[in-house]
Amino acid sequence: MSGSENNGPRVGLIERYRDRLPFGVDDPVVSMAEGSTPIVYAPTLSQRVGAEVHLKLEGANPTGSFKDRGMTCAVSAAVRDGAQAVICASTGNTAASAAAYAGRAGLRCAVIVPEGKIATGKLAQALMHGARVIALRGNFDEALVLVRELVARHPIALVNSVNPFRIEGQKTASFEIAEDLGEIDALCIPVGNAGNVTAYWKGFTELGLAPRMFGFQAAGSAPLVNGAPVAKPETIASAIRIGNPARWEEAMTAFVGSSGMVREVTDSEILDAYRHLARHEGIFCEPSSAASVAGLLRYGPDGAARIVCVLTGHGLKDPQTALEQAGSVVPCEPEIDAVEAAVLA
Ligand SMILES: *Cc1c(COP(=O)(O)O)cnc(C)c1O
Repeated sequence: MSGSENNGPRVGLIERYRDRLPFGVDDPVVSMAEGSTPIVYAPTLSQRVGAEVHLKLEGANPTGSFKDRGMTCAVSAAVRDGAQAVICASTGNTAASAAAYAGRAGLRCAVIVPEGKIATGKLAQALMHGARVIALRGNFDEALVLVRELVARHPIALVNSVNPFRIEGQKTASFEIAEDLGEIDALCIPVGNAGNVTAYWKGFTELGLAPRMFGFQAAGSAPLVNGAPVAKPETIASAIRIGNPARWEEAMTAFVGSSGMVREVTDSEILDAYRHLARHEGIFCEPSSAASVAGLLRYGPDGAARIVCVLTGHGLKDPQTALEQAGSVVPCEPEIDAVEAAVLA
């Protein structure tokens, strides 16, 4: 059943794709009608790169990022298994999503985030949904090592993308692309912990499709490009500020198996793409998401005629970076001449 044939309320992805996911008809489902996100054609990007470019708007998921696709599955499985609590290490969006789905399921939730390195909106979400938010004086990689140790000691479900249910849920984005566009030549995607590129490749492979996977890492956090972990990853794109991806091997299998590539983009290229998308395509994504478009703009389509760039999260997640990158507001007295001058300037 596809979303467009459905006349009732929109269903979540477990219901939409249950025959291709590890859930039976009687299993509990924790869902907020995630998935079925828009794919929009990008005219200015298409013209700039000389190919047909579409954008997959994952910011349209319930908590504003693709993490909800994995989280509906991870939290539903945790409920089925009788878990009382979930935990994750997070650069922000996993925390927001885990907190929301755990809240809905009546589970306790703890999230461990790198102190001072998570966007304001994501922090607000995790706190509002009632998670215990722990600010680690360390980076994401250290947080992930510690939560893995903690779940070995306590019966708490780990909902990071090392959890196979996360990959299962996230692979459904490939199904949607195939249903909406048919075959594509390449997928451009930001790469952090490398769960998402692993999931997309799994989804395409299950369909017998093999578009080229073009992954992009931020230059200061590019372990897959360098072929070695980065001890102190740095980038303005906080969601991909990861130095030792958990899905390293699987991601490399996706790049090699699809005749794709993993390459780096600088923070300034990321911010250029971020502003271009907002100003000329009407689409406000977060900086990490813009890495997919930054990479396409820097390296070109490399022979691909039809391309999807994954915009992984919504721009409202990170209002601080937006305000630093955008123009300033115009102060004005409440008089017609002043307003006229201000508007027409
Ligand atoms: C999590 C995230 C990524 C990176 O995905 P991985 O699966 O860690 O590679 C990219 N962009 C955003 C907005 C994210 O939240």
